[in-house]
Amino acid sequence: MTALIEILQSHPFFFVVLCGIAGLLVGSFLNVVIHRLPKMMEREWHDQCAELNGNEPENVLPYNLFMPHSACPNCGHKISALENIPVISYLLLRGKCKDCNTHISARYPIVETVSGLLGAYVAWHFGFSLAALAALLFIWMLLALICIDLDTQLLPDDITLPLLWLGLLFNLSATFIDINSAVIGAITGYLALWSIYWLFKLATGKEGMGYGDFKLLAAIGAWVGWQMLPLVIMLSSAVGTVVGITLIIAARLGRNVPIPFGPYLAGGGVIALFWGQPLTQNYLQLFSIP
Ligand SMILES: [Zn+2]
Repeated sequence: MTALIEILQSHPFFFVVLCGIAGLLVGSFLNVVIHRLPKMMEREWHDQCAELNGNEPENVLPYNLFMPHSACPNCGHKISALENIPVISYLLLRGKCKDCNTHISARYPIVETVSGLLGAYVAWHFGFSLAALAALLFIWMLLALICIDLDTQLLPDDITLPLLWLGLLFNLSATFIDINSAVIGAITGYLALWSIYWLFKLATGKEGMGYGDFKLLAAIGAWVGWQMLPLVIMLSSAVGTVVGITLIIAARLGRNVPIPFGPYLAGGGVIALFWGQPLTQNYLQLFSIP
């Protein structure tokens, strides 16, 4: 074990490859989370409603991240371990189910590839360290949140809240920022969006975002500290506005079609974690603030 740690410390390349491969495997698991977590939440709501009305819950078969086994949604063909190798299986099967030739969404290998590349980049950026391990958890949890928000407009508490606790936990030893800045970051992150939400609601009577967005920015604040929050909000609003306007023009979406804000916040959070320090320094120098 110590030999392995020494190799990873002295040969950064091995660590990059190892995290890249881990990223591919985790990406495969993230696909399951992205697909099943919203369905699990929906089943829980149904069961709670049934219980409230004094009925028996409808769902008797277990459904969680591990049960039942992955299968083709069209023909029920069970996915074997060989057909479950990240990216490679998809290419070998040419994106089709082995049994019924139904098209398999390209999103699966895309999520796996992105997860692998981000894993390798974290390893290269931080080197073999606690910060690298923490950053891996950060980007993988955010990747799951981005895809779930795009699919369902939900940011599950089951991910946002542990993300917040983990940020505080890692910053107990100042992994990214001192613990005071992290705690204040979590609180101001939540309150910043909460205030915008209420101002917007009082002014227009519409809801511009959801409570999940507040919790997500609170979690990001816990990781990168309150100092980075203006950067995160500016980046996510700027990119969100550009993409939103493009979608409205290109797809002729109505202006009332909700566009999830979570993916932009998550993207801003990742940028703040990797490049926040130099970016904010340059920004402050621009206005000659020391
Ligand atoms: Zn099939």
